[in-house]
Amino acid sequence: MTARILVADGAATARITLKVRLSAVCYDVVAVGWFDQLAAQLATARPDLIILGGGFPDCPASDICKQLTSDVRYADIPVLMLVRPSDRLGALKAGATATLDPDVEDQMLMARVRGILRDAEHPQEAQLGLAEAPAAFSHVALPQVVLIADSVGRALRWRQLLSDRMAGRFDIQDPDEALGAAASGRTADLYLIAADIRNRGDGLRLLSELRSRQGSRDAGFVIAIAPEREELAAIALDLGAGDVLSDSLGGSSGAQAAAMSLQKLLSRKTKSDQRRAEVQRHMVWAMTDPLTGLSNRRHALPKLAEMARDALMSKQGFCVLAIDLDHFKAVNDRHGHMAGDAVLAEVAHRLRDTVGGAGLVARMGGEEFLCALGNCTVECALRMAEALRRAVQDEPVALPGLSGGGQVRVTASVGVAAVPPGSDGWPDQIARLATERADRALLSAKARGRNRVVSAPFEHAA
Ligand code: GH3
Ligand code: MG
Ligand code: MG
Repeated sequence: MTARILVADGAATARITLKVRLSAVCYDVVAVGWFDQLAAQLATARPDLIILGGGFPDCPASDICKQLTSDVRYADIPVLMLVRPSDRLGALKAGATATLDPDVEDQMLMARVRGILRDAEHPQEAQLGLAEAPAAFSHVALPQVVLIADSVGRALRWRQLLSDRMAGRFDIQDPDEALGAAASGRTADLYLIAADIRNRGDGLRLLSELRSRQGSRDAGFVIAIAPEREELAAIALDLGAGDVLSDSLGGSSGAQAAAMSLQKLLSRKTKSDQRRAEVQRHMVWAMTDPLTGLSNRRHALPKLAEMARDALMSKQGFCVLAIDLDHFKAVNDRHGHMAGDAVLAEVAHRLRDTVGGAGLVARMGGEEFLCALGNCTVECALRMAEALRRAVQDEPVALPGLSGGGQVRVTASVGVAAVPPGSDGWPDQIARLATERADRALLSAKARGRNRVVSAPFEHAA
């Protein structure tokens, strides 16, 4: 979808020029020149980026920025401010995501816009609450910042300038050390890398390398560029740098702004780390049965269809086992629900242990389990079914003290459906038919007296 950019600038010429430049590369651009126009636009449609040029006649730019970034409705919309270098610190303090010189050339402007849009928080995730901070008391370590400069002297200078102005552990490394550390999992939160380290442009190659490695790709990256190599700035942003700075970090007068840029990247990284962890947790919850830790039905059915697809493609067979505890209601009736839960958890554990890496085990609901085995003949499935039946039956299950203690013996019935190699049809249909056949075989095992394995006849196959 085309990104929507809101340009705010009190000067009509500047605002129109910017609108034309951005529209030329197919952004959806709206330009406003007064505060109430800005408010009206924000209420109409949410922009993906706000570019703040000069202030409005009724409000200076830094005040507009402060108002936007402190308003919970708009705080997650990135703001790019066009300011002179001397005003950069003020803009960052006012909450700007990044700054550019008002006379910036097209290439750099577009690279900046692309970079900000790429790194911007996904609004839907924020609305889902996925961007929330994790529960309290998580360990908060000082951020680790790796400095990779063109000389030790420069790296030491960076360290001195930054460590006076921001909290962090600053580690001076050369490119090989940084790559080695990333490969062995000792990654940094942020890398400050000179664009030219030993050779021209090798810092940009290092940026690409680190961004492509699993260990370091989620870190923040800042590229430090010598004034005469300014043309590298746009390339660095397009390669994934979150920011570019002058290699002097602005000296002692500009270092505060440099430190602030780094801190902004670090806090963005923390947020996206939290978001990823949260998404991961939601995914695990969504596919796991909380009582037994096994896959739930929602996860198992698509997995089974995947297994059917793999079997079709490799012309191999696969098997589905439907497992149901016998007279389980009696366990609940005699020993209580808590004892029943303990039995379910223990049986799940035994099934998982018996199947090991050979296949999938899932809790389909109540006291019903499913096992799916890839690349498996009917003989091998019957052996596994018998092993599962015995694993349930052989040892009594210890009951929790709170439910009265003691132990109970349980048994299970198993229905087996083998899908032979070379079956034809859609994977999900084959998987569904196999499950139905296994369920019918299970019913037959129940009807024949329970605690037994029954194989589904082949004539019911697809
Ligand atoms: P059958 O041999 O025919 O399978 O008999 P059964 O008693 O095992 O089957 P039935 O379907 O009559 O009863 C299943 C029982 O499983 C009823 C329900 O209370 C119990 N159950 C289902 N889910 C849970 C659970 O999460 N915890 C506990 N404790 N019991 C459960
Ligand atoms: Mg049962
Ligand atoms: Mg049942």
